[in-house]
Amino acid sequence: MKKRSHNNNRILALFTLLAGFCWTGLALAQATIDSVRLHRAPDHTRIVFDLPSPVDHKLDKLANPDRVVLDLLDARLDFDVNSLDYATSPIANIRVGKHSDKTRVVFDMRDGVRTRTNLLKPIDPHGWRLVVDLFDKELNGTTASSTEPEASKPQKTEQPKQRLMVVAIDPGHGGEDPGARGPSGVYEKTLVLQIGKKLEKMINDQAGMRAVMVRDGDYYVPLAERRRIAREKHGADVFISIHADAFTDARAKGASVFALSSSGATSARARYLAKIANESDQVAGVYEEEKDDSSLLSVLADLRMNGSMAGSLYLGRQVLEEMGKVTKLHGDRKRVEQAGFVVLKEPEMVSILVETGFISNPTEERNLRSPAHQAKLARSIVNGVDAYFRSHPAPHSWYAAQRRQHGEQYRIQPGDTLSEIARQYSVSEQAIRAANNISGDRIMVGQVLKIPSS
Ligand SMILES: [Zn+2]
Repeated sequence: MKKRSHNNNRILALFTLLAGFCWTGLALAQATIDSVRLHRAPDHTRIVFDLPSPVDHKLDKLANPDRVVLDLLDARLDFDVNSLDYATSPIANIRVGKHSDKTRVVFDMRDGVRTRTNLLKPIDPHGWRLVVDLFDKELNGTTASSTEPEASKPQKTEQPKQRLMVVAIDPGHGGEDPGARGPSGVYEKTLVLQIGKKLEKMINDQAGMRAVMVRDGDYYVPLAERRRIAREKHGADVFISIHADAFTDARAKGASVFALSSSGATSARARYLAKIANESDQVAGVYEEEKDDSSLLSVLADLRMNGSMAGSLYLGRQVLEEMGKVTKLHGDRKRVEQAGFVVLKEPEMVSILVETGFISNPTEERNLRSPAHQAKLARSIVNGVDAYFRSHPAPHSWYAAQRRQHGEQYRIQPGDTLSEIARQYSVSEQAIRAANNISGDRIMVGQVLKIPSS
């Protein structure tokens, strides 16, 4: 009896083993999807399935009630879709049906949506991905929802005739493009958004300017779209893209500032950084028509004509000067480097890209994560922007009124010449000499010059 029972157990064990093999065999034939992300943007919801290999899929839209049905063929979903945060999206509920030959994912919608899918090839740090985009109806633009800062600033609305200078803040990366990753696991996209939000608040608290956010959540905005949002939608005067650096050598450190180049990169590092930055669209997986198609040469000709390149370099120098007071500068150099950054290719806007420090350096990563250090960085950028607007006061702006009332002062920086300063302020060298009681061309670094009104 005992022995027979033992035999039965062995047969049962063998059967279980065989059944196990069969089941495993089936599972191997199917792709197992164990990672899904959801990014909510102002105008769409992006759901991303990480795939071990390309997966065939079918997407259907059904009405009454609104549903989006995604069939993942020969695929098994090993992920709890209810752990996704879709609270701010039009998705009401997500259901998963498991079939022998497919997995069906049903999105119950609160509102109708336009749908689109995109199967993306592997690119670091991602493998194969299936992107499902659900575009909201009745919403236009990919713009970050920006509060109306004027409403909360009575001191500015008292002078409605003075134009506020518009500063577009572009926290780099976002959504599917995490940017660099620090040793603690923190992503560049997260830190630069935190710094960007502090910068937004400080700018809105500052007289004479207001901020618009190009991205204000964890979603991706195509590079060309970032410029369009800033310039066409918000009429930005200044565009500041915020990033954090990374390098294989963890000792690399320091902040730096970049502008677009008209004649190749100013260093191998600048060229490399522009290449990495320009790959963002690929990492995030933008659609063909969202890719940047503007001819760099024609844009550069425009840049020269509009003088926005000179403005960008001037702004970059002011920001570097201010950042140097609160953080180490890369290579201890106060030089604005230049390369072909796609996100800066806007002839109508003074545009810079700020690398706030090295996220790959454990000490700098710790600093970049600290709210106090983030605030210092943001403050230094505001000070640099303020210095730029003071020296380039736009007609009808608060800055122009300030100059009329108080005249202008300028602190000499290394490399400055009297003729360049005179040109920047549109006054004659002789007028500056007379206002400051000096003769000749000799000026000293750190000296403060009174700038007479032109
Ligand atoms: Zn970056």
